Amino acid sequence: MAFAARLREELARVVPQRRCCQQAELMAIVSLDGRPADGRLMVQAANAAVARKIYTLGKRVSSGGVRVNRDPRSRRGRYLVELERPAGASEEGAGEGDPFGDGLPTSVPRRDCCRRAYVRAVIMSRGSLADPEKGYHLEVALDTDAQANDLRGVLEQYGVRTGLVRRKGKPVVYLKDADDIAEVLRLTGGHGSLLAFEDFRVLKEMRNQINRLVNAEAANVEKAVSAAMRQLDDIRLIAEQVGLSSLPPSLAEVARLRLEHPDATLADLGQLVRPPLTKSAVNHRMRRLTALAAQLRRSSSADSGN
Ligand SMILES: [Zn+2]
Repeated sequence: MAFAARLREELARVVPQRRCCQQAELMAIVSLDGRPADGRLMVQAANAAVARKIYTLGKRVSSGGVRVNRDPRSRRGRYLVELERPAGASEEGAGEGDPFGDGLPTSVPRRDCCRRAYVRAVIMSRGSLADPEKGYHLEVALDTDAQANDLRGVLEQYGVRTGLVRRKGKPVVYLKDADDIAEVLRLTGGHGSLLAFEDFRVLKEMRNQINRLVNAEAANVEKAVSAAMRQLDDIRLIAEQVGLSSLPPSLAEVARLRLEHPDATLADLGQLVRPPLTKSAVNHRMRRLTALAAQLRRSSSADSGN
């Protein structure tokens, strides 16, 4: 299942324990996806799990009837949850936390526990989490600037940084930082999604580390190969112009070994010398051969200049 769908399913299954949070969460859902109709509230639900959650919250916080219907206008298996006004509730007398209060509320709840419920509702209704292999991206598509400001304000209180773009004139709040996304998943109780997200991060970090090592190793090999090529050129030049036998025996030995083992590392060449030489001792001899070749090149170009 895609991350976005998994997260929505998961958040739909979280029903807070406290009544204050249940109210706050239902209010937030209603303010985003509900519309008043003949003294009832019709709330759109993206799938069966969301419909079940709205039903459960409605039953817990309201004494009015709650019904779930398939949305007749939707071809994608959406549902409409119908919340009836509780019997005896007056039109004006609705208090805070009553979804039948003044219109469709957008205010952010005051208590910390309820704020989490609010964030969960907003992410569930409007959030979309990209599969992390496509990049860390969580976005929340809202209808009004007030909704976007409310969400950003609350997330900021939890130290979560957000950005804002407009798509077709409507605000889209987005998060790009993996730590911020993980924090939102933690806050809202999306623990399964959080685990999957963190697993991916760890895997990605390991993969990056391995790639860095492989790249560094490849760069070292490349350097060693091109150094060996230059050494072979130098040694062949010396052999042609003055002969390896004219060299001091310690240099001649290393030169012959390099010709016989073009792919060997300096350390490997050192092991072929009797008695064995350290890498830096071999390197020292190679430098002397290189200096000698440079000298030969200079004097031959001076000759041809005359
Ligand atoms: Zn609460």
